[in-house]
Parts: sequence; structure tokens; C-alpha cells
Amino acid sequence: MGIKPTASVAYLLFNCQRPFDPLVEVERDEPAVPMRYGSAFHAIMAGVAAEDAAMKFDVDPYLQELIAHAEKAKAALSLWLDGENMFGAKFNLIARETPAAWDWVTLTRRDVVEFNEESHTYDTTTYEIAGTADLVVGGVDINSNFVKVVIDYKTGDYEDYSRPDELAQLRTLAVVWEADAVAVLHTPRGGIPVMHVARFDSLKRAATSSLLIQSLNRIGDGSMRPGPHCKFCPAKSSCPTNNAEIVRESNMLLRMAAGGGPLANPVDKGALNQFLQVFEGLRKQAKAALRADVQAGEIILQPNGKQLQMATKHVERLSKASVLRALPGQAGEAKLDELRALGCLEMTAEESMVAK
Ligand code: SF4
Repeated sequence: MGIKPTASVAYLLFNCQRPFDPLVEVERDEPAVPMRYGSAFHAIMAGVAAEDAAMKFDVDPYLQELIAHAEKAKAALSLWLDGENMFGAKFNLIARETPAAWDWVTLTRRDVVEFNEESHTYDTTTYEIAGTADLVVGGVDINSNFVKVVIDYKTGDYEDYSRPDELAQLRTLAVVWEADAVAVLHTPRGGIPVMHVARFDSLKRAATSSLLIQSLNRIGDGSMRPGPHCKFCPAKSSCPTNNAEIVRESNMLLRMAAGGGPLANPVDKGALNQFLQVFEGLRKQAKAALRADVQAGEIILQPNGKQLQMATKHVERLSKASVLRALPGQAGEAKLDELRALGCLEMTAEESMVAK
């Protein structure tokens, strides 16, 4: 099932609609440490106790860094809200960490949107796009005009935040909240917080609404447009336009496997490891497809003349899981203790290479 449209994936939505097609399978990665750190930081900024936030997002080792980081960010934000801003306004809170949905048929906002923690999706209808604004504030500027600002916190350095009115996520949130300005409080780890602000007038909102409607309307009609955004796409491994990149990266893999010398550039090495994960998924898909053909009776010959056939072998296996399945509860644990005492269960350390 494809991903649901939200403000945070608007960059992908504006560029290609295929990953949002309900019939397209997407891969869901476990969030890595920088992402979990960012989520914990957001939770602290929203008022959650630092200890609880660190535990919830499994970043306890970074607790002290999180506390210092959030204090620095809150101090910079509070100066800005209290009048040190380009509007000369003192801002008051309108909403904080509030999920809302924008209906692209009626062009209206709905404020009560449930977020399902398990599926990581919003409870939206087919005609809605959801988004959570980190902060929405309002105040009167020096010309006595009311100004509403949507503010987003960023802890990473993934893109240029100096023009928040050009970021798809902020543009979408501005439409959802009918904001007059958008801002990014960029507070990188170990860096100094900087507030990037840009006005977002009704013309910009109208242009973004129209882009949103066009993009949302294309979901499910087979639209797909490859480009630089493909590297963020969770439907990449099943995408037909991905073939050229697979061929290019396969060449790199073959060069290494054939003894063409190790890669010198760490970026290429990282890219190669990521590709190996995609390749593993493709290998499994291809094997499953071949197996289905052989089971259906197709005659398939390898270039060496051997024919693919189904083979059955009978094996006996003993594992902790099989013991606990056969002897549920205490009996299973007692049998495992007995096997341990006899030396039949061995403890070994396994080292693996993981990307965090
Ligand atoms: S890989 Fe690129 S073209 Fe294919 S679905 Fe994803 S974003 Fe679209």
C-alpha cells in the first residue's frame, strides 16, 4: 500500500505521484538515529519531559545533548516570538504540534486528525492531505496587520533552509493553516540556532493549492516522473524507471567483485552498501518469480544446461523457538536450562555491519 500524502512528503508528491498509489508497495525503513533524535527533540520542544522523549524514541545515550540542545533552541525561539523579528510583532501561540488535514475538494482545514502510532499514518480521507505544524503563532505587526506564521524545527542539514517559502513541506503547511509567513528554526546538533523566515502571501498560497490539487489528483493514474527526488522514494525498488540506476550501480558492484580494486570514495562505499540492500530485495523478488514459474511447470534451462527444478529435503532442526513451541511455559524454559547445563546451547557473539 502506497504512502499517505502528508506535508512532510510533499516534496515527493509534487514531483512523482506513484509512491502514493494505494496499489504500489512501498518499503518502510526503521528510522535511523538522526531521525529518532529529531523526533525526540521535537517532542521536548512540544513540552514532553526530556527523559520521556529520549526513552520513547530510543535515544537515551543522547539525553544530555538533547536537553542542552532544546534549551538553546527555546531561548532563540523565545527572543524571536517576543519581538526580535522582521514583523516587529509579539507573537502568541495558536497551535503546537497539531495535526490537521486539508480537504483539496472543499479547500477547508479539519483540525481533529488522529495519528496512528503503529501504522505511522494519519486518519485522513482520500481527499485530504495531513500535516503537523510544529508551531503556529499569530501577532500584530508594525502596520497593525495580523500575521500568522507556521514554524518548523529542523535539526538536520539535509537541505538549504534559508528560503522556507520554497520548501514543499512549509508551502503545504502554509496552505493548511492559511499562514501569512513560514519559518524554519534551524538548530543543527552542535550548531547555533538560526530562524529563517519568509512571507507567504495569498498568491503563493493559491499557487501551492493548485500544485497540491494537481498532484493529489494524479495519484493512482499511473503517473511517474523520475528525477533527483527518486533517492527519497520508498517505492524505488519496484519502479520501472529505476532500471538505469540499478544497471549503473550493478556495474560498480561487479567491478569490485571482479577485483577491480576497492572504492576510494566513502560516499561511493555508502551508496554501494545501500544498493546492496536494494539488490537483496530484488534478488528475493526475482527468486520468488522464478520459483512460481517452475512450480507452474515451466521448463527453464540455465546457460550451463542445467534445468531449474523444485527439490524437497527433510531436515531436523532444534532451536530455542522449537523447544518453546513444543513445551510452552515453564517446561520449555526448564528444558532450555537443562540443555544449557549440558553445553548443548552455546553463547557466541555475532558481529554485523548495520547502518544507523
Ligand atoms: S523511483 Fe522515482 S519515478 Fe519511480 S516511483 Fe519513485 S519517485 Fe517516482
